[in-house]
Amino acid sequence: MLPRRRCPFCRHWYHPHPRLNRRQQTCGRTECRRQQKQKSNQQWRAENPDYFRGAYARQKEKYGTRADYMRLYRQQHPDYVRRNAVSVQKWRQKLRQEPVSHTSFDLNLTVGPEKTSKQLSQ
Ligand SMILES: [Zn+2]
Repeated sequence: MLPRRRCPFCRHWYHPHPRLNRRQQTCGRTECRRQQKQKSNQQWRAENPDYFRGAYARQKEKYGTRADYMRLYRQQHPDYVRRNAVSVQKWRQKLRQEPVSHTSFDLNLTVGPEKTSKQLSQ
């Protein structure tokens, strides 16, 4: 058995797994492993600050903006446009058929106690 070590997160003692030995940084509990991963990610980001920077600019150059992509997609997929129009129509009809209750809206208002009682008495 390898000599015991202290977990840097929960401060519990543990014996590292023989195959992991030096690489094992935590006691192995999910919460400690998550914290270790977060710490190593932060370290990596600090060492490689430009890695994620400029990714969007590169993608935009290659594929265009999201709006450009959707415009092109709609041009190439007319049945998608028709299907979407039908579902939007149905959704709007449903909205018209089930109007929001005005009385329940009034009761849910969070105002001072005097105001609420005034409104209720009116
Ligand atoms: Zn731990």
